[in-house]
Amino acid sequence: MGSEYKTCDDIFECQQCGDCCNGFGGTYVTKKDIINIANYIKFDPEKFIDRFCDSSGSRYVLTRGKDGYCIFFDKAKQCTIHPVKPYMCKAWPFIQNVIKHPENWDAMSNSCPGMKKGIPHKALLKIIIVETNKLDTSITE
Ligand code: SF4
Ligand code: SF4
Repeated sequence: MGSEYKTCDDIFECQQCGDCCNGFGGTYVTKKDIINIANYIKFDPEKFIDRFCDSSGSRYVLTRGKDGYCIFFDKAKQCTIHPVKPYMCKAWPFIQNVIKHPENWDAMSNSCPGMKKGIPHKALLKIIIVETNKLDTSITE
């Protein structure tokens, strides 16, 4: 008998709660993310890091407001840079880390009510590999 979990919709449905834009982890941005977001909001890319980023080790993350939410989060509109949001925001929750450690899916679901718990690892891996490939292809096209 086949698995009942075949596509991303079988294991994840975003509840638009905004919790992933608040606090935990930090949202890393690549140089490409910075250029894309700066162009989208019509801001000088050279000044973007000073205005919208914090350092995290040798990398940069998007700054958070006093309320703990990402600087680009709006309670009514949610992500205000949705078409150009950073890679990790586009990928969530289908991330490489779960391919390496499928047991992390259930742990992540404690912070993300859209993720279904208890998915068999074999089905989980298949779906996540398809989703990460789709995203990577769409970015390099
Ligand atoms: S925490 Fe999960 S369910 Fe909530 S907005 Fe983020 S992705 Fe969607
Ligand atoms: S860029 Fe958008 S999706 Fe990503 S943390 Fe900020 S508001 Fe949320």
